[in-house]
Amino acid sequence: NTPLHELDPAVAAALDAELERQQSTLEMIASENFAPVAVMEAQGSVATNKYAEGYPGRRYYGGCEHVDVAEQIAIDRAKELFGAEYANVQPHSGASANQAALFALAQPGDTILGLDLAHGGHLTHGMRLNFSGKQFKVVPYHVDDSGLVDMAEVERLAKEHRPKVIIAGWSAYPRQLDFAAFRRIADEVGAYLWVDMAHFAGLVAAGLHPNPVEYADVVTSTTHKTLGGPRGGIILARKDFAKKLNSSVFPGFQGGPLEHVIAAKAVSFKVAASQEFKERQRRTVEGARILAERLTAADARAAGVNVLSGGTDVHLILVDLRASELDGQQAEDRLHEVGITVNRNAVPNDPRPPMVTSGLRIGTPALATRGFTAEDFAEVADVIAETLKPSYDADALRARVKALADKHPLYPGLNK
Ligand code: PLP
Repeated sequence: NTPLHELDPAVAAALDAELERQQSTLEMIASENFAPVAVMEAQGSVATNKYAEGYPGRRYYGGCEHVDVAEQIAIDRAKELFGAEYANVQPHSGASANQAALFALAQPGDTILGLDLAHGGHLTHGMRLNFSGKQFKVVPYHVDDSGLVDMAEVERLAKEHRPKVIIAGWSAYPRQLDFAAFRRIADEVGAYLWVDMAHFAGLVAAGLHPNPVEYADVVTSTTHKTLGGPRGGIILARKDFAKKLNSSVFPGFQGGPLEHVIAAKAVSFKVAASQEFKERQRRTVEGARILAERLTAADARAAGVNVLSGGTDVHLILVDLRASELDGQQAEDRLHEVGITVNRNAVPNDPRPPMVTSGLRIGTPALATRGFTAEDFAEVADVIAETLKPSYDADALRARVKALADKHPLYPGLNK
């Protein structure tokens, strides 16, 4: 029972430093969040010791009576939260959920239609080096000049290529997708519709975004982005897909489920059903709108900063730096210097290589979880706009970032 700090001071020091980093900087990576302490407690629990291949009540190992309870709670809460007939809470990650979903709906060699990675799609939606791109015939669709998904192109490509699966979902897109239009097109060509709501699941749970479960055959998600739970994945679907999806996850791609993570997912679904969570998601979207407004103001535009699609409906904005003297890497580094963490991101038809890019993806979920209000987000937006100007006062901006971090302490009491 030796505590971590005694048993392994080197790892303990790295984790202490990571806590300090999260507390003292402003986390604005759109796919990140801060899990509640109770979620981390479940994730750090004795359930990590348990083998439980199979599903609740139908396991291949003895002694599963207690993890069965926790996994069934997670399943029931996921179904309730999203209004789904079926839920699988075992995928180890979003990518694992996507792999299991895709192989349940299609065979290697089949055609799939997904949003191009360079236009905001995810690796698992058909990127060349990913399983999806290696084993399936990929037809990518794109955003148009206004930055919106080109539904006319989706329809044209679907009719031309007759895909087995149409994927609607994104990693870097600031608007809501038209699920009804995707459904209509999928029906017209006899394709399955799979929605990957990894990014916006928290907004769906809070009723601030259309619910894809009402339209799609299968919906996948991560549990750690806007949803704010432990790192992991889930799959939701209609009952008739249950058998195929269950066997695709186990034994198709996974062995023993991570029951400690599943227990943590259950806790996070309880949180996500609360009024406090809804209010937090409201502040998340409001914060992103404030960022978009501030970064489309005249002085930001004068510095060559623009916002793709002109705004946002969700928890993130995409900053277009093609007219700025900064590239994506330089802008990311400069914000890091003043204590704001974001990630550089390609803009559609980016003239720069993927390791440099001409854009930034900036998200508000983690700061909303920290308690940021509209007023705080306005201050963050001003700090970002100032930092991206040709001349900036790093010390003054760092002090403003520190004041915001101090105003909303993160994980008080966790420091050793
Ligand atoms: N799907 C989408 C849309 C994502 O944005 C991501 C992660 O960025 C994933 C799936 C994959 O999730 P994970 O990193 O947990 O594998």
